[in-house]
Amino acid sequence: MTTTIKPVFGIWTPWAEVLCYACHGQEMRTRPGRKIPDAAFQRLLGDYPGSEAPCRCDKCGRPICVEGRDDVTTLGAMRDRINDAIPGAGAHLDQTGGMCVGLAVPLEQPAPGSDPNPELVWELQIGLAENGDPDDLDRSRFWLGAMTGVWGDDDAFTTLQELTDAATIVEQVRRRLQEWRDQGGFAVDGRAWPATNRGYDDPDGRDADHD
Ligand SMILES: [Zn+2]
Repeated sequence: MTTTIKPVFGIWTPWAEVLCYACHGQEMRTRPGRKIPDAAFQRLLGDYPGSEAPCRCDKCGRPICVEGRDDVTTLGAMRDRINDAIPGAGAHLDQTGGMCVGLAVPLEQPAPGSDPNPELVWELQIGLAENGDPDDLDRSRFWLGAMTGVWGDDDAFTTLQELTDAATIVEQVRRRLQEWRDQGGFAVDGRAWPATNRGYDDPDGRDADHD
């Protein structure tokens, strides 16, 4: 259905939203009180001329492409695909610093009533592969990784695999979520993941008992 609707211009906001300009509005939200000039805004409300596969506006669901940021559009489209295929997956885009974009699928929510620790992250992450240069991303190749532990800790992240086919990525996400739910982790190169004790400082990482 939506494939017949032509995409319009979209914007990637500092709040990790992807919005069509009709939903965003003419005012520059990073500079309140200032407006996008009328002629430019009229253009941005119109059809997008490129041929990228669009993602959906967070507010109205209209297909959009973010001009000059096909990495955002591509990961946004992957987000939509995962959420369509896996009800409740909760795939979402993240700001990862300097307006860079990340795609994450939560592995679990904090237990009800527990004291949430914002530094502990439990999620699958999907990114675009680099062509040997962080500024040269390949829009046709993705990596799938898992972040299970303290944010920013290299040991808490592992790359699971590189993938090209979107349908395979969705199936991998589905499988990893299922394994996480059923087994509390998944195998990486024959090792159990997470290797550490769920992000806590535990040198041998094999102690199932937290206290
Ligand atoms: Zn919209």
